[in-house]
Amino acid sequence: MSTLWAQFDAFATGRGLLADWEAVFGDDFERVKCWLKPTGERVESHPCVRKPPCGCRHELRAARAGPVAVCVCGDGRCDAFPVEGARALIHELDRSRFRRRLCDTLGLAPAGGPPPASGGRSDFVGTYLPIQAPVYLAFVEGEAELVCEIERLRLQRPGPFVLLTPTRRFYSAEAESALGAAGALGLALTGLVELERGGGLRLSQPLEPLLAPWRARVAAEGVGAVLRRIHHELAATRREFGQRPSCPEPLPEPDALRLFALVRELEPGGAVRKAPLLQVFRLYCLEGLAAEGVARRCGCSKALIIQRLGQLRRKLGRHPAELRAFASQFEAIEKSVGEFRGRRLSRQSMLYGD
Ligand SMILES: [Zn+2]
Ligand SMILES: [Zn+2]
Repeated sequence: MSTLWAQFDAFATGRGLLADWEAVFGDDFERVKCWLKPTGERVESHPCVRKPPCGCRHELRAARAGPVAVCVCGDGRCDAFPVEGARALIHELDRSRFRRRLCDTLGLAPAGGPPPASGGRSDFVGTYLPIQAPVYLAFVEGEAELVCEIERLRLQRPGPFVLLTPTRRFYSAEAESALGAAGALGLALTGLVELERGGGLRLSQPLEPLLAPWRARVAAEGVGAVLRRIHHELAATRREFGQRPSCPEPLPEPDALRLFALVRELEPGGAVRKAPLLQVFRLYCLEGLAAEGVARRCGCSKALIIQRLGQLRRKLGRHPAELRAFASQFEAIEKSVGEFRGRRLSRQSMLYGD
């Protein structure tokens, strides 16, 4: 297998003189050459071109005929050589041309209008249409940088994405877990895309089978899972701030009705004079009062309320604090079933008074 993409990992800054590119890519230089463009930036030195080279980068000095590269290591066997035009300029990968061709080769949908700016070490390549996931190409210099880039992309645009890198060299366990947390897939160009002489790109294997397992996972998790995660996080935050939590996932209908039936069986008053179960249920579960608050409203001790909460737990099969999450569902059932009909008018007194 060609080591061409591995050279990109070793040369992630992607900036150098043509002679530097030649030195890094060796025989593969011919395949990379047409993807380079001059930056207009000049340098002070040039690699030695003798084989084997001397010990220095030759210094570029102005001469009447143009710049020449002069050996400064005192090797004595290197002649100064002229460095003409483009060879004196820093060259870099023409990333926008490259990603357009890559988008085409991978069968992605190009960005309509200017591509979304990525800002970091990666370029937007195109959109993988089956799940509308953006595909980025990143040239990074190490493991830590790869993790940062994954995090940056995740924060920039929530939702699954594909991150292409030259190879998997920097895929540490941390990078894999960052990808997993982002619902993203990391793919290496090596073994997937071949860079041909003359600047062509060719797929070495079909893309779809590589994406299929990830796509299925994303579909199974689905947007619903993402939303549920967000709701859970919000509910947890609300609990932290002592507010009444709301539950994003309603109880299944039969469970809700069964619970409702159990609540109906709670004594609304009757034999118990202080803090009847139904009243405690309403204040604690539906209104979300703390035990002290319930005790105050019932005009009894907190100890009695704790005792009542224990009774509720036994009767309903769930801790009353847990049931708070279903308060709105309960109220809705109560409304639709039309239960407590006829008692509605006295509900206030039933709830708040003896
Ligand atoms: Zn030399
Ligand atoms: Zn030298």
